[in-house]
Amino acid sequence: LNKTAANHSALTPLNLLQRSAQVFPDKSAVIDDDRTLSYRELYQRCCQMGDALMRRGVNAGDTVAILCPNSHEMLESHYSVPMAGAVLNSINIRLDAASLSFILAHGEARVLFYDTQWENTVRAAMAELEMPPLLVAIERKAGASEGLADNGYESLLTEGDAEASWQRPADEWAAISLNYTSGTTGNPKGVVYHHRGAYLAAMTNAMVFNMTADTVYLWTLPMFHCNGWAYTWAITAVGGTHVCLREVDALEIYSRIEDYGVTHMCGAPIVMNMLLQELGREGLTLSRRAHFALGGAAPPSSVIRKAEEIGFEITHLYGLTETFGPSTLCVPQPEWQQLPLEERAVKMSRQGVPTHGLDEVVVMDTVSGARVPADGNTLGEICIRGNTVMKGYLKNTDATGNAFRDGWFHTGDLAVMHPDHYVEIRDRAKDVIISGGENISSLEVEEVLYRHPKVSEAAVVAMEHEKWGEVPCAFVNPVDDADELTAEEIITFCRDHMAHFKVPKKVVFGELPKTATGKIRKNILRDSLSR
Ligand code: ADP
Repeated sequence: LNKTAANHSALTPLNLLQRSAQVFPDKSAVIDDDRTLSYRELYQRCCQMGDALMRRGVNAGDTVAILCPNSHEMLESHYSVPMAGAVLNSINIRLDAASLSFILAHGEARVLFYDTQWENTVRAAMAELEMPPLLVAIERKAGASEGLADNGYESLLTEGDAEASWQRPADEWAAISLNYTSGTTGNPKGVVYHHRGAYLAAMTNAMVFNMTADTVYLWTLPMFHCNGWAYTWAITAVGGTHVCLREVDALEIYSRIEDYGVTHMCGAPIVMNMLLQELGREGLTLSRRAHFALGGAAPPSSVIRKAEEIGFEITHLYGLTETFGPSTLCVPQPEWQQLPLEERAVKMSRQGVPTHGLDEVVVMDTVSGARVPADGNTLGEICIRGNTVMKGYLKNTDATGNAFRDGWFHTGDLAVMHPDHYVEIRDRAKDVIISGGENISSLEVEEVLYRHPKVSEAAVVAMEHEKWGEVPCAFVNPVDDADELTAEEIITFCRDHMAHFKVPKKVVFGELPKTATGKIRKNILRDSLSR
């Protein structure tokens, strides 16, 4: 049979909200501080805002930006904006005015929804823009806009019709969202997602994290980061409940888990680490097991072990902004259950196997492009091919061409392939320390540091060295109640647990700088050494 096009439509996650509104109309879709919306209400508000945007002249392919912490408005935008045929650009709330104006200008935003808590930053950014967007104020914690916004969010909403039909994309490869990378090297790049990938990422991410209609998901991850690793769409796909959280605060997370019966949440290993410390200090454990997906940075096996001990069930995900968030997961094999927790945690700390939306995740020799042998030892670059990879970088053909060399998306992550075909990251290419011609994986040194009982957080970066070129330098944040922790103690511990050439030559104590998603900013640590 030939394909009968008449009965097919473009894949889009917008369908998933429509379906959940039909199947679970009265169920709580989103719980925010002061408001709970059912699936019927959520769907209607999204249709209404989509219609209001179109009436204001927003056209297919236009960019609508949002600067807002996790909230029902933020979730709504993931549907309302593409329902108008437009492209959602969610912006990191920690950015300064200069970066904000760069992103708004580069993305050519027609509208900016912003929470009035960020009014000063928005005002400063507007001063830099030749074509300022329509400003729509979300008046939550900080109250009404002080003369900056053109409209309030709720008043704009009333301009739309909740019964209006929304724009189904004619082409499933049409853009749905635009996410800027953190830009630690040069200006940020605008990663463009397509409807097809967003739909598939929603389905696969729900599957890899065992989500069902009973899922109660706590937003410990910012929705502005890769559209919340596509969980903004995935939870809606299964008809689960979104529980918003404006700021990451350990005790608040704990009380929401208990109060709302939270079953699932995601975050960087540092967020889990902070949670473990705080709960440990307060002597709190979870009253029932909750799933936590760790990702965004390599989780030390000790963090996985402690999290499982306190009552979390860990899923390990690896991905990038360019891959709609998760691209691999460490699938636990049944026989691992028999292993002691410590050994199981080491297996779980590997990045694992591809998610279902991808064709292949391979490790390639960086020079020849050949696949490295599955020996758990030969280093190469992780390269990815499949349907949950970005379209490309907006208005940046050079970077796009470079990222997609030879038909593969190149991640810049260096890894080995194990005999069981699980991938394990050894380092980001730019974080590897090359000492006397030998590669030292910063992650491997950190893994040992995290095993030291007095270490709360650790990061290892390259430090220039006259004889060896580079040597490892460790930055350590000790646990709060640790007795005096000395550099000698750390160095001796490392000498006992690793080859001597990998041992940090210097140890610096103090707090570690982090990104909005809780990743340690190694570039700042490196810069602090060269100053
Ligand atoms: P940024 O460049 O701002 O960190 P991304 O969120 O795109 O933005 O980061 C992707 C990178 O994060 C990956 O290339 C990888 O280096 C790292 N990463 C993400 N998840 C993991 C993981 N589970 N284990 C190791 N590294 C990870």
